[in-house]
Amino acid sequence: MEDDDERGEEYLFKIVLIGDSAVGKSNLLSRFALDEFDINTKATIGVEFQTQVVEIDGKEVKAQIWDTAGQERFRAVTSAYYRGAVGALIVYDITRRTTFESVKRWLDELDTHCDTAVARMLVGNKCDLDNIREVSTEEGKALAEAEGLFFMETSALDSTNVQISFEIVIREIYKNISRKVL
Ligand code: GDP
Ligand code: MG
Repeated sequence: MEDDDERGEEYLFKIVLIGDSAVGKSNLLSRFALDEFDINTKATIGVEFQTQVVEIDGKEVKAQIWDTAGQERFRAVTSAYYRGAVGALIVYDITRRTTFESVKRWLDELDTHCDTAVARMLVGNKCDLDNIREVSTEEGKALAEAEGLFFMETSALDSTNVQISFEIVIREIYKNISRKVL
């Protein structure tokens, strides 16, 4: 499909969102791309990806961010979803430990479909719900360090760290690509 062989002035990066159901992937994406939050998000159907333009070093970079659209409920995210991805945000919900325990499985799945050079960010979402937290910040950090991932706690609800999380991944991809091109 859109394999990035066209190395013109324009950059288009495919980034995938992965993680268990209901951790907030769709809301992180709509917060980032549309500045919207939907308290009633049900099974996310329809939207495959959102494109967001970000400026890095004076260059326009297009991030095409893919959402699972609910596929993960059936534990069957297709290989087409991962194809061509150069970045990934692996999301868990800080109020549900099981979603944190699933991170390893998601990383394994990412490894089977993508190159190890894929820029990776571990995202502990729903940090606005600190009072019912089940996963400490330290645990998140430790896992990220052990697996060589960037790490951020976010809230799609109140916008905490959403922009910066995506931007860190986009910058890292840009860095990787520039290194290869130069
Ligand atoms: P997905 O299945 O991973 O795409 O998760 P959704 O984006 O559909 O969100 C699942 C549920 O969690 C919805 O009810 C959202 O309103 C809620 N949610 C998502 N992000 C946050 C957040 O940062 N804080 C809180 N409190 N709720 C969130
Ligand atoms: Mg969703």
